[in-house]
Amino acid sequence: MTVDPTSELAENVTETPHCGSCETPVGYDPDHRVVTWVEADTVHTEHFCTPTCRQEFLQSG
Ligand SMILES: [Zn+2]
Repeated sequence: MTVDPTSELAENVTETPHCGSCETPVGYDPDHRVVTWVEADTVHTEHFCTPTCRQEFLQSG
């Protein structure tokens, strides 16, 4: 029997989000951070597994 680990994720998310810094899948982690910002009239969303990863992403530009 195969267990599908993605079946419990949000209904309208077809792909597990990955940390924008270290690329760890963050879909299961209740502590992960989501950052959204608007650039050139487009909304960007980035996920981070920890505040540290968010910091590194922002610092790396
Ligand atoms: Zn990370």
